[in-house]
Amino acid sequence: MANSRFEYVRNFEQPDPLLPNTWIVVRVDGRAFTKMCAKYKFEKPNDRRALDLMNTAAKAVIADLPEITLAYGVSDEYSFVFHKSTNLFERRSSKLVSTVVSTFTSNYVYSWFSHFPDTPLSFPLPTFDGRAVLYPTIQNLRDYLSWRQADCHINNLYNTAFWSLIQLGGMENKEAEQALAGTLAADKNEILFSKFGINYNREPEIFKKGSVIFRDYELVEPASHNTAETVDAQAEPVQQSKKQTENDKKRRSKAAIVVDHLDIIKDEFWDRRPWILS
Ligand code: ATP
Ligand code: ATP
Ligand code: MG
Ligand code: MG
Ligand code: MG
Ligand code: MG
Repeated sequence: MANSRFEYVRNFEQPDPLLPNTWIVVRVDGRAFTKMCAKYKFEKPNDRRALDLMNTAAKAVIADLPEITLAYGVSDEYSFVFHKSTNLFERRSSKLVSTVVSTFTSNYVYSWFSHFPDTPLSFPLPTFDGRAVLYPTIQNLRDYLSWRQADCHINNLYNTAFWSLIQLGGMENKEAEQALAGTLAADKNEILFSKFGINYNREPEIFKKGSVIFRDYELVEPASHNTAETVDAQAEPVQQSKKQTENDKKRRSKAAIVVDHLDIIKDEFWDRRPWILS
């Protein structure tokens, strides 16, 4: 069968490798989740069960693909960061994206019942789209993640004010929209506090900051890390021995996968976990 007359069609398949030595972000996003929210009666503005389900599915993806160093999730989306050195699937874009999307989706559907025990799934089933974007520098990558987290904050503040005006203030959607048109962040905080006694700062961190998932090692004290870096910078570049690389791999596979709701815009998160981007 090796040289059948059909085999020429193999050449129609085009290679799609992603540029080497660049950070790969695969972002998945729920399809038509606005409709899903209505269909499954998600609590507005934040249904905690749905967020936890997203986190369960994302954790399963990370456990399945150790090449992922970090993931960030908000609303119906999740961004998975592959280390710039990864050679998984020879960095073929369609293989990476489709594997992440289908691993995520099958885990989302599989775990639905544990998060929504009283709400059976029905057709159309939840699906997700996906894309890969490349970031050449750590600064670009951190700016990407900061962009998503800033977006989470802006949307959540707006949605919290919007739904308070409706659920607690008895407004119609249109009225609430008009009440918030042209308001700044400070105005929304003020509306929440003066009208409803809500202190936005005390809202749950998962709503304000989204979710970040990473492998946990021992935390590095910011000061001691800085000292080590200064010393390293002056020393000869050290080649990692094979044994060290093996040990690192073992540590990675054993490290706990943590879901937390931390600020990933400021330096502190990264300074205390230098292994994530190293
Ligand atoms: P598309 O298929 O283009 O992505 P979409 O309807 O999914 O369309 P998005 O921009 O992805 O559009 O918006 C997702 C919607 O789902 C937003 O309105 C968001 O508020 C809502 N949503 C997502 N997760 C939750 C949740 N946990 N609780 C309440 N609402 C949520
Ligand atoms: P990859 O992840 O690279 O696709 P793979 O193990 O899935 O790895 P394939 O080339 O896709 O490799 O091969 C699929 C394997 O599954 C083959 O060995 C095939 O015989 C087996 N298989 C698939 N479907 C069936 C089936 N219905 N009954 C028995 N064996 C099956
Ligand atoms: Mg979309
Ligand atoms: Mg969506
Ligand atoms: Mg979305
Ligand atoms: Mg196969």
